[in-house]
Amino acid sequence: MFNSSLLTAMKSAAQKLNTPFRREVGVILVISIIAFWFAQHYDFFEELVEVSRDYEHYELDELFILLKIAGIGLIVIIYRHSLYLKQEIMRREEAETKILKMAFYDSLTGLANRNLCHDRLEHILAHSERQQTQSAVLFIDLDNFKEINDNQGHTYGDEVLKQVSTRMNGILRSEDTLSRFAGDEFVILLDSVKSITDISILAKRLLAQAALPYTINGKDMTISLSIGIALFPTDSTDPDELINQADTAMYHAKSEGKNTYRFFSKALDEEAKRTILIRSHLRKALEKKEFSLVYQPIIDSKNKQLKGAEALIRWNNPILGEVSPVVFIPIAEETGLIAEIGRWVLDKACQQNKQWQLSGYQPIVMSVNMSARQLQNDTVVQDVEYYLQTHKLAPKYLELELTETTVMQDIDSAIKRLKQLKQLGITLALDDFGTGYSSMSYLRKLKPNRLKIDRSFIKNTPDNVEDTITTEAIIALANNLKLKITAEGVETAEQLKFIEATLCDSVQGFYFSKPLTPHDFFEYLASTQAALINSDSTPIKPVGNNLTTGQQEA
Ligand SMILES: [Mg+2]
Repeated sequence: MFNSSLLTAMKSAAQKLNTPFRREVGVILVISIIAFWFAQHYDFFEELVEVSRDYEHYELDELFILLKIAGIGLIVIIYRHSLYLKQEIMRREEAETKILKMAFYDSLTGLANRNLCHDRLEHILAHSERQQTQSAVLFIDLDNFKEINDNQGHTYGDEVLKQVSTRMNGILRSEDTLSRFAGDEFVILLDSVKSITDISILAKRLLAQAALPYTINGKDMTISLSIGIALFPTDSTDPDELINQADTAMYHAKSEGKNTYRFFSKALDEEAKRTILIRSHLRKALEKKEFSLVYQPIIDSKNKQLKGAEALIRWNNPILGEVSPVVFIPIAEETGLIAEIGRWVLDKACQQNKQWQLSGYQPIVMSVNMSARQLQNDTVVQDVEYYLQTHKLAPKYLELELTETTVMQDIDSAIKRLKQLKQLGITLALDDFGTGYSSMSYLRKLKPNRLKIDRSFIKNTPDNVEDTITTEAIIALANNLKLKITAEGVETAEQLKFIEATLCDSVQGFYFSKPLTPHDFFEYLASTQAALINSDSTPIKPVGNNLTTGQQEA
């Protein structure tokens, strides 16, 4: 009873004393109490006293015993204290390593952080200078990472960053440095690179590795990178300037459609400045009515009648002049302005198509391009429905064109939205087909009504055997899936002849017409459709066959 309550009291006292210093004091106290208790109660000490009496040095012997006890206590204290010191040193070392890691390494990926990156870059540049070699700084940014974070949450985004960095690290040499610079930005430092070709090969490998599908939390996703490259000593010898230049080149890669790499050069720098200018003017472009639509006829490849028109946006700014959609659409996507611009295009295109019908021409299908960001917008289905109703346009006269990359970004929600759009009664076309990564399984899932074969294939037909075979294979594939096919970029009689011999049902390109302004399109309709109404099947004559007008489509 007494023993158990004493034990409990000792336990609770031990718990209370559970800090290194208190514990130490506690141990010393306990040893002293035990020693004192022994000295008071055990015969062993009496015997010692007896022995010392024999020597007749009682007082001295008593002191001797006490000294012995104190000596044992002291040894125990010294031993305990050395243990305590050892633990303390280990704790400090651990804390220092932790602080060092926090100061130089990224906690999420374990990669070098911005500080260590700067440090190593200075090191590499000094080394390159001594060895008279070339080094490179690669600035890498994940494309559309913000959307992943917004849609899937930050934990998911963090997992993406970890997996991407592991893949990149896997293909670097041991002497290269991969660092997480900030957020979704990474910097790679390459010491002693032999040639620009070597850097290009590495950049391509990084893009290819990153583009392979990921499975995170049971969800499949893909991501791409944009890479900017600056070289020592060609571009600069200053570490900070090199990083800034690589960053600028990375933005150039983004504006060129992402998933690519670009080298820095003075020309690139100038263009980056222009991008900033474009960005600021783009915000006011809608308000200032600087956009317009042009329409490129789409012709039936068998009877040469007009089947439809593709609406293409143009931007004319008083300061910047004509800005190509290839330049401003990615900026509009990045800034989120695309939602508003997209709605404006839908509105105008539906209105125009209805106007042609009201003017008495045979109804045709209006094709409208839709970007990835627009498709991700929650209101996209309601928007399309709204403009069809507003302009009283039958849904079958509207076709939405999506690129492969548009739908690949978030395949599950894209499939859901596309299904809802189809339920409205409109048709869907997969644009620029053959340039993206579409697989058969995705094609089956997306179920588009039409494939538009990219102009890059048609361009070299029928002379280039490879492109001709590819084009024929795409047409065969589309036919097997019972999809309609449009050949884009038909410019010559030879190309048309080749297409006519296939099962491709419609063609689009400069051979028949360049994109026309609304006024010119009315004239085009008047000269072709009026003739059609009068005499059943007069083929449309090529008009506006001017190959020097610049960009055909975007
Ligand atoms: Mg298109």
